[in-house]
Amino acid sequence: MASADKKPTAIVVGAGVGGIATAARLSKAGYSVTVLEKNSFTGGRCSLINHSGYRFDQGPSLLLLPKLFQETFHDLSTSLEAEDVRLLKCDPNYNMWFGDGESFELSSDTSVMKREIEKWEGKDGFERYLAWLAEAHRHYEISVREVLHKNFTSVFNLLRPSFLRHLVALHPFESIYSRAAKYFWTERLRRVFTFGSMYMGMSPFDAPGTYSLLQYTELAEGIWYPVGGFHAVVAALVRICERSGVNIRLDTAVSSVLTSPTGKQVTGVQLSTGEQLSADLVVINADLVYAYNNLFPNSATSYAKTLQKRDGSCSSISFYWSVSQTIPELKTHNIFLADEYRESFDSIFDRQGIPDDPSFYVNVPSRVDSTAAPEGKDAIVVLVPVGHLLNSATSNTEKATSGPGLLPEQDWDSIVSSARKTIISTIEARTGCAPLEPLIIHEELNTPTSWESTFNLDKGSILGLSHSFFNVLAFRPKTKHPSISGVYFVGASTHPGTGVPIVLAGAKITTEQILHDRGIPIPWENQDSRIRDHGVKQGKGTSPLDVLKSREGAVFLSDVGILAMAALVLVLVLAYVNSGLSVTWDWEGKKGWGTGRI
Ligand SMILES: Cc1cc2nc3c(=O)[nH]c(=O)nc-3n(C[C@H](O)[C@H](O)[C@H](O)COP(=O)(O)OP(=O)(O)OC[C@H]3O[C@@H](n4cnc5c(N)ncnc54)[C@H](O)[C@@H]3O)c2cc1C
Repeated sequence: MASADKKPTAIVVGAGVGGIATAARLSKAGYSVTVLEKNSFTGGRCSLINHSGYRFDQGPSLLLLPKLFQETFHDLSTSLEAEDVRLLKCDPNYNMWFGDGESFELSSDTSVMKREIEKWEGKDGFERYLAWLAEAHRHYEISVREVLHKNFTSVFNLLRPSFLRHLVALHPFESIYSRAAKYFWTERLRRVFTFGSMYMGMSPFDAPGTYSLLQYTELAEGIWYPVGGFHAVVAALVRICERSGVNIRLDTAVSSVLTSPTGKQVTGVQLSTGEQLSADLVVINADLVYAYNNLFPNSATSYAKTLQKRDGSCSSISFYWSVSQTIPELKTHNIFLADEYRESFDSIFDRQGIPDDPSFYVNVPSRVDSTAAPEGKDAIVVLVPVGHLLNSATSNTEKATSGPGLLPEQDWDSIVSSARKTIISTIEARTGCAPLEPLIIHEELNTPTSWESTFNLDKGSILGLSHSFFNVLAFRPKTKHPSISGVYFVGASTHPGTGVPIVLAGAKITTEQILHDRGIPIPWENQDSRIRDHGVKQGKGTSPLDVLKSREGAVFLSDVGILAMAALVLVLVLAYVNSGLSVTWDWEGKKGWGTGRI
């Protein structure tokens, strides 16, 4: 660790989950850290909206990959429990409501999944589900080990033997839908097991098969919800930051990154007020595409422009409704899929528009956490995925006048009002709940334009850059600036990608890169993991009960056994045919099987 009297200094631009987690880690490693946030609250997309006793999660509501949360707190020498972050398990995971009046319950309870799958695809269907789960398990384990815990600083990292060996098993070149279609033979179940690509802001027909890992973590590890809202995780990290002396300045927008006269070394940042702050290094947590186009000297570089041309994730129209009574038909998480499944994605991702018949997600935080709404009432969030904006409002580059994408000057009032009508009638028709409209006593709203202006998200893409193969790994914008020494990135649009747990994993990767570049020891490097998921350590002292044994003595048919059996059956059939014997059923006498010569 750096000595206390001469602490190196760091500025973090943005108090999103990525910025706050990086600040906490840098502070632990001995940095004097200042976080600068344009808004009056921390958490960025992972923040809350409060209204008269109702509480809504502005962005994330599904806490997945819980081990990555535990790892962050453990590395900071504490735990979720010690920081009073209490996770509630959502049960069921989701209710999926179909247009034909049917529904499907997704659960981490295997007996529920067996019942639900056998209903549509029979016994074989459940076996195929288990095979799909095994594939998704491999996607998950390989990705956590080889992608979420490693940096990709150059394309040569793709040649790492440990990664390359598993590349084919990750199915990065097949879509999540085409992988699911191999295991699920009805269109209904193909939809059930592919809509999750929307967590990455991608169509299931484009998202790499690897991302079945997200639905896997829900089914194998559950969906969780922090008491008090998702922001409780950020609030705990903020408390850790404050305990270690991090200075978090809210309502403080950064207007540019300052460099040495040669432009090769960072020296600090300038605020929108004109104030200048100096630091040894600057970590950018603000959206990376926005930052490259707005915060650097000579921002409109060709690299910055190419970033804006890369595929972005979708945007959303999000409603936050205070409702005057509970709507018991709705569970914590509800999915309403469009009947025209493929078309609903094509209109978002190919044409960047708004589908006439949208798929949408409804979250009722008060169903799992009673603190989210006054007693006997519900807080409801509706997320309707839509295309992103055609232009980047915050960019210095010239505006496109045509092409796919929504326009900021579009008539949002009428778009929102038509989406609202469709959603309310769909919820009522599919769930049979009481008429909703008269129960909504207050509404808050986010649209692509408000996502862009509130958080500086380029084109209002709520999940940052897309996660297609050529936008991830070594192809994703790097965690370190290519030419300005001392500038690093953390957050949804850099490696490893979007989603709160993934961004937390990214905060670890970026901080370790910074410390490695400066020869500073990594405080948590040799810390024992408290997560017991590697099985019992094998060695001399291992209890006989826990010694791992191969399938010694077990009766099973290996591939060789199956081939031998097949050969034996073939020999018997040939012998029978050559013997001239016939074995037939005695139809007339119905006396059973008889033999004779042909
Ligand atoms: C509607 C929605 C639903 C989601 N659902 C889930 C979910 O269920 N589960 C999940 O895990 N993830 C979900 N996500 C994704 C998740 O919220 C994000 O991936 C994650 O929060 C991104 O964190 P971040 O730190 O990268 O960025 P941000 O949260 O965007 O933080 C960046 C911060 O930088 C600030 N900033 C920007 N420009 C400046 C500037 N010039 N000066 C100072 N500050 C600046 C911004 O105000 C912001 O606070 C969802 C996101 C959205 C929008």
